[in-house]
Amino acid sequence: MNSQIKICNRCVMDSTDKKITFNRYGLCDYCQNFDNRIKNKIKNHNKPSIKLSKLSDKIKSKNKSKYDCLIGISGGVDSSFLAHYIKTELKLNPLVLHVDTGWNSVNSVNNIEKIVDGLELDLITIVIPWREMRDLQLSFFQAQHPNLDIPQDHAIFASLYNYAAKNKIKYIFTGGNFSTECIREPLEWAYHASDLKHIKEIHKKFGKEKLEKFPLCDIFKYKIFYRYFKGIKVIQPLNEIEFNKKKSIELLQNKYGWIKYENKHYESRFTKFYEGFWLLKKFGFDKRKAHLSSLILTNQIKREEALKILSIDPINETDAKNEFNFVCSKLEISENDLNNIMKSKNKKFSDYKSNYYLIQFFVKICRFLKIENRLIR
Ligand SMILES: [Zn+2]
Repeated sequence: MNSQIKICNRCVMDSTDKKITFNRYGLCDYCQNFDNRIKNKIKNHNKPSIKLSKLSDKIKSKNKSKYDCLIGISGGVDSSFLAHYIKTELKLNPLVLHVDTGWNSVNSVNNIEKIVDGLELDLITIVIPWREMRDLQLSFFQAQHPNLDIPQDHAIFASLYNYAAKNKIKYIFTGGNFSTECIREPLEWAYHASDLKHIKEIHKKFGKEKLEKFPLCDIFKYKIFYRYFKGIKVIQPLNEIEFNKKKSIELLQNKYGWIKYENKHYESRFTKFYEGFWLLKKFGFDKRKAHLSSLILTNQIKREEALKILSIDPINETDAKNEFNFVCSKLEISENDLNNIMKSKNKKFSDYKSNYYLIQFFVKICRFLKIENRLIR
């Protein structure tokens, strides 16, 4: 590890995050934020909180339609466990929505099938038009943008919110949780996927095809218009219970034959390439640091173990080569093209127009109102 890099004494976030600050005990601002705002919100039992029980009773008694709520599923641990918990513990009947961006791994498809069949749930799959998906992804490559996953992330949550609004579903349950996500990566590594102005700007500069059917939904549309004018509420039930990653994986494996991934978010082959290769090799940002730090702070992994994991590349050389070739053939570009893109000058999200200041102002208000407790900067 580079000796210039300063690392937090408790978690594994370090000065590869340029805005990180440390107090006199060597604790980073994420750890301080965790102690001040998140720690006392972590639950240590699996019984639904009073708040969650009351809410599910209310939904059951008032709901007249077949489905009590909408949930998104990727095949990853958070969303799979969410489906299990809602159906078996809260006894709600969710409609499950999966967004196929064209990059599903074989495991993710199998996992979704196992969960949906095992729990006897109804599934709808929204397939993103591939030409548009490809064009937007290539635009982000051309833009030399660190967060190549914005198009995929945007397609997923925009599909979910737009579907709920169109079909008058009042509750969306998401797998968002403090347990594995209490440290959010700095925006420099992973800028907001919900900033539509930013997406449109990059597509205008580099895109070749019109985005006609690609699902779009600005952060202000779903946080304000959908919430206050359409009455759609977003619930994060995994924050109301003890959500332990290891235990959840074991349960999913034993009960449904679910298959584990090497890393968080590797259910998408594109995300595997982006996090394990693009972001790490080209920009020097390792997203595992935020994820592992979340697990350290919630006592699910020891710091030494996390450091050991970080000392090894997330994908080995053979795997990296395979993913590189796969991405080229899928996006219909040559290896030479991708090599040239890899070698070109890195850009920052701030090199392109965005709603950064407006969104960050909104984040500040949400933090003031304690709707948002994570540090987002
Ligand atoms: Zn820290």
